[in-house]
Amino acid sequence: ERRVALAAATGPGATSDGHKVPLLANIGGPGDLPAVLEAGAEGVGLFRTEFLFLDDAAAAPSKDKQIAAYREVLEAFPGGRVVVRVLDAGADKPLGFLTPADEPNPALGVRGLRSLLDHPEVLRTQLEALAEAARGLPVYLAVMAPMVADRQDAAAFAEACREAGLRAKFGAMVEIPSAALRARSILQEVEFLSLGTNDLAQYTFAADRQVGSVARLQDPWQPALLDLIALAAEAARAEGKSCGVCGEAASDPLLACVLTGLGVTSLSMGAAALAYVRAALAGHTLAQCERAAAAARAADSAADARRAARTVLSGE
Ligand code: PEP
Ligand code: MG
Repeated sequence: ERRVALAAATGPGATSDGHKVPLLANIGGPGDLPAVLEAGAEGVGLFRTEFLFLDDAAAAPSKDKQIAAYREVLEAFPGGRVVVRVLDAGADKPLGFLTPADEPNPALGVRGLRSLLDHPEVLRTQLEALAEAARGLPVYLAVMAPMVADRQDAAAFAEACREAGLRAKFGAMVEIPSAALRARSILQEVEFLSLGTNDLAQYTFAADRQVGSVARLQDPWQPALLDLIALAAEAARAEGKSCGVCGEAASDPLLACVLTGLGVTSLSMGAAALAYVRAALAGHTLAQCERAAAAARAADSAADARRAARTVLSGE
């Protein structure tokens, strides 16, 4: 049954009644491109640029090395979109030249955008490298910041993008509950949102994503997480802007339907999940996805939310 569904699932992401949900890929560098192109991704929804920097955590890669890597990725999607995330260092991905060594609680310390605002020259070099890499290419470039907490963070990032002469859309990741709660205010500064559900779950449930014994609380079906996703998606809709998901939640085919029903406008995932998510969306109408989303949010546990969504989506 799965094989039949996969064979039928080619082309852009959409529900069975034609509501488009672009299916994008998460990548860590040019090495991931062959698998992503093979899987038919419509673009890149999350380029985790910190992976380019992990080889040598003592210093940032040169601007030229960055330009070459960015250009290779941008050239792979003529006419498509590529969303590049600026360096997300700290916590689970410490980089010696950015991350303070002596933090008692690195996940709550100087990480993501915070470390870039403390090292404006690193951010500026990266943004200038992106501007240079995109020059003359027919690609829709978007750049987003990780770990945006509030409007002040979003404004500082947008200002840095403008100062670097970047001609791209600027966005904010929603990974901290405060950003979901005040998404409308953040959208006064940036043009799109992207939900990082891995960190959003971690910070919503005070459950370290690296600690297996609290995995129950990291479950992306947790209704509280769905509520925060709905808040961000509704804020984006009210502002006429887009709100994607690039965390692991997007790679669960059933949950992808629920996210679509919550109003999420694009889904980004590892290459291996694309065909399954495409098939799941193609098997349901937008109204069915919306009913599944409402049923999941009415549940009181992750397990019940999953069951409720499955009942709605399989019973029709
Ligand atoms: C996330 O937090 O969901 C996310 C996409 O970013 P990362 O997994 O790289 O922290
Ligand atoms: Mg994250």
